[in-house]
Amino acid sequence: MFDVHAIRKEFPILSREVNGYSLVYLDNAATSQKPQQVIDAIVDYYSNYNANIHRGVHSLSQEATDAYEAARKKIQAHFSVKHSHEVILTPGTTHGINLVANGFSSLLKEGDEIIVSALEHHSNIVPWQMLCERTGAILKVIPIDEDGVLKMDAFDTLLSKKTKLVFVNHISNALGTINPIKYIIDEAHKYDAAVLIDGAQACSHIKPNLAALDCDFYVTSAHKMCGPTGVGMLYGKEEWLEKLPPYQGGGEMIAEVSFEKTTYAGLPHKFEAGTPNICGGIAFGVAIDYLNNIGFDAIAAHEEKLLKYATKKLLAIDGLKIYGTGTQKTSVISFNIEGIHPYDIGTIVDKLGIAVRTGHHCAQPIMNFFNIPGTVRASFAFYNTMEEVDKLVSAVERAKMMLQ
Ligand SMILES: *Cc1c(COP(=O)(O)O)cnc(C)c1O
Repeated sequence: MFDVHAIRKEFPILSREVNGYSLVYLDNAATSQKPQQVIDAIVDYYSNYNANIHRGVHSLSQEATDAYEAARKKIQAHFSVKHSHEVILTPGTTHGINLVANGFSSLLKEGDEIIVSALEHHSNIVPWQMLCERTGAILKVIPIDEDGVLKMDAFDTLLSKKTKLVFVNHISNALGTINPIKYIIDEAHKYDAAVLIDGAQACSHIKPNLAALDCDFYVTSAHKMCGPTGVGMLYGKEEWLEKLPPYQGGGEMIAEVSFEKTTYAGLPHKFEAGTPNICGGIAFGVAIDYLNNIGFDAIAAHEEKLLKYATKKLLAIDGLKIYGTGTQKTSVISFNIEGIHPYDIGTIVDKLGIAVRTGHHCAQPIMNFFNIPGTVRASFAFYNTMEEVDKLVSAVERAKMMLQ
């Protein structure tokens, strides 16, 4: 039984006050809050079995290693990944994308093409631009329509034998749009192009089945799915991970080192140089258990209710426009009110204890497309309530009254 009030009690931060009001946290697309179970796992690790992993023969080190590797297996199962060595634990999405972009430096040549979407986060634009500068490859962009939906007919015409890589996010963090990634993956594979999916925004809302999707790479961050910051997953198909060179050199990623020649460790350690975020990895596993205990069907059903209700109530405000109006979307609402700067709305609702995001959301090209400086973004999680939607709507109405 999904009981939002019982769930909220598990998140200590949700009972605090901000500026004299109960906190209404609607910035979940930037980062999610953490349940007590995840906080406890972090405290437990540092209180009881903190040690470096994979090296020590002593018992503490083995306990830590076992817990870390058990977390990798949990992540593997959650994302339906075939081999646990295809799960690389990274510091997060941005790191995972850079790792792949760096690896492709040696695999691309001048004139090769890379396709990205117009909906990308800066972390999925800049590394590819840098890759193009290094290799002479050319960046092509899938355009969006007025609803913020990718134009698939344009994608079809961009694809060719020159296409080596396609990068697209699963769900847009700026608009909440769910992209047709299965179609993109299947079409790109007809040209033998590799496909990387940025799942940072998706994994708090849905449970991706990577075996069924058949993408070549998938990246995500734990902190957007109730886990800690500084840890995430890069999934790569074994054959691609074997082909890519290591990203960073250091301890953990080597088999043998001499000054003449160093040989690299096997997967996944080849890509995990240095002491990893051990505690973070373990807590990531706990966060995944937590979400699965609630269940992604229940999460989706509740968030869909919040999205519908909030959309309807916000649209009733005169002069309010929502960006990202495709039918396939998650619980993110990006909006503006005619004649008012988004920053001013964000500042006033914060005075009433409501946390929303304002600005370009690390996706300036989308803002340029709509010809706006930014938006107000309210992003809802499964622990948000209908009453919180009501509070948001009346705060926005109040901001409008004060500013117009
Ligand atoms: C948050 C986000 C990122 C960046 O994730 P980090 O954890 O900051 O590395 C990339 N892409 C999308 C779609 C995001 O929502």
